[in-house]
Amino acid sequence: MKPLTVFYHPNYAAPIGQHIMPIRKFALVADELRAWSDLAFVEPESVSAVDLLRVHTSEYVEAIRTGEPRALAESQKFPWSPQLFPSVCLTSGGCLAAARQALRDGVSAALVSGFHHACADHGEGFCTFNGLIVAADALLAAGEAQRIAVLDMDLHYGNGTTQLAASRAHVFALSIYGNDFANNVPFRDVTVRQHEDGANHRSFALPAGCDRTTLLRTMEDALPLLADFRPDLLLYQAGADPYREDPYSPLALDHDDLLARDEHVFAFARHHRIPIAWVLAGGYTEDVSKVVRVHVNTFAAWRAVFA
Ligand SMILES: [Zn+2]
Repeated sequence: MKPLTVFYHPNYAAPIGQHIMPIRKFALVADELRAWSDLAFVEPESVSAVDLLRVHTSEYVEAIRTGEPRALAESQKFPWSPQLFPSVCLTSGGCLAAARQALRDGVSAALVSGFHHACADHGEGFCTFNGLIVAADALLAAGEAQRIAVLDMDLHYGNGTTQLAASRAHVFALSIYGNDFANNVPFRDVTVRQHEDGANHRSFALPAGCDRTTLLRTMEDALPLLADFRPDLLLYQAGADPYREDPYSPLALDHDDLLARDEHVFAFARHHRIPIAWVLAGGYTEDVSKVVRVHVNTFAAWRAVFA
């Protein structure tokens, strides 16, 4: 079997000091995966200004580059530093590279966050540039893909991705979430909706206490929407924050349940012959090794389905 190409760069991480977002997790995941003989690590290129400006306003991109105005440069709730702009250009570059590789090989991964809370003119929820939509728009512009679907299984509703999807007929976004998210605020009670669905962005809430049975049943209801869109490519945001010990998570999902989630996604993509690229997304459990295990298990799921 051809090795899985995994896009990783040590400069994905910018210094953010003591922060609930364990930015070192990307390096920890990479360290664990280095020993796997069926993975090929490749460093991605940064995305260009043209790539960013298809998705984000010039005022916002300039704020991230220069740090001014500071409130906009830190709208994602990270302290700004000169390393932020290059790191998030590489992060979006990882998304785009994995998306391209998946179109060639059928499957690929990037050890980056998809940054699904990032909106056109500002960041939110630790997300600076929306790498998922940056990748989708770059592929469309290059004529490499016409229809790109996003499956967002981070704990939090992907408000930035869906807001950007709403004006893009070439994108379909599906968010399966256990916390709603709007205006930089997570909402634990999903019985009250903070957002509206649209023709090409749909969402499914997971109830508090959600177990594997409920999760897989919800996925069985939701994933056919992706197949109906007949995408050329599926971008999968495999969050670690649905994990039951995560401080944000009201769900009852353990490591095996999230492994079952990932196997279900890969089996779906394989069954429908949809190329799939995945990225990591959130995860805030205090013991970072438990976050890393969720992400490493996504690779185990890939191996179980595609090997
Ligand atoms: Zn999240």
